[in-house]
Amino acid sequence: MRIIDRPNKKGGTRTAKAGIVLVAAALGALLFLCPAASAQQRTIVLDPGHGGLDVGAKGKFGAVEKDVVLAISLKLKALIESNLDYRVVLTRDKDMDVSLENRAALANNNDAAVFVSLHANGSFRKKAHGSETFFLSLNSTDEESRKLAYQENTAAGVGDRIVEDDKNLIQMILWDMAQSAYVRQSSRLAEIIQRELNVLLATENRGIKQADFKVLRGVACPAVLVEAAFISNPEEEQRLIDDAFQARVADAVFRGLSAYLRLLRRD
Ligand SMILES: [Zn+2]
Repeated sequence: MRIIDRPNKKGGTRTAKAGIVLVAAALGALLFLCPAASAQQRTIVLDPGHGGLDVGAKGKFGAVEKDVVLAISLKLKALIESNLDYRVVLTRDKDMDVSLENRAALANNNDAAVFVSLHANGSFRKKAHGSETFFLSLNSTDEESRKLAYQENTAAGVGDRIVEDDKNLIQMILWDMAQSAYVRQSSRLAEIIQRELNVLLATENRGIKQADFKVLRGVACPAVLVEAAFISNPEEEQRLIDDAFQARVADAVFRGLSAYLRLLRRD
């Protein structure tokens, strides 16, 4: 669009004025479209695990991890946005493939204050139950954690093959093992979230653990991975598909996040 025409005796000023009005209107529309964005407002990135071809862990009654964690993440996003002065970016808001690299890169691109990856646990031991919160370590807490990290890392290989185009972009903002600079903060965050999960869900305390989760490696901010409950346990599978239970998980993580962010502000 040409805003300012070559000046002529009569029409020149009028055209320039019309241009200014147009620009002002466009700016107004832009501000209207992004009312929540403010210079100081920081971002929390929530990562519903898996998606698309990668369904994650499956339950005996047919529940799949990718659906359950998306439902919990959407509830958590709503809680954060209506109670805290943070905007929330989801790594996916529907059933789609997203590579592990893209998930971490999204957090870095948005200069995230916190990154939370949400999952539902799967174990060969049918009786395994309870919530777990992980932070990154190359050395796993125990054999079960090592196996879980392997499961979570390899299931997502599907997405890695599909999203090829963004590789160059990602290299700019995804640093190898960026997370190693945030391990202490991530451990604190994991501890606080796990405490809330124990209280609100009345599930067995499986404590905070460490494992080599690929999705956390490149994230340059405090980052944790929450395994809400065991979808491989038929009893917990039933809870995980229950709307009220999903809301309780979201509430527990929300309380943990709020407490952690309060601590950050005090430091
Ligand atoms: Zn998972």
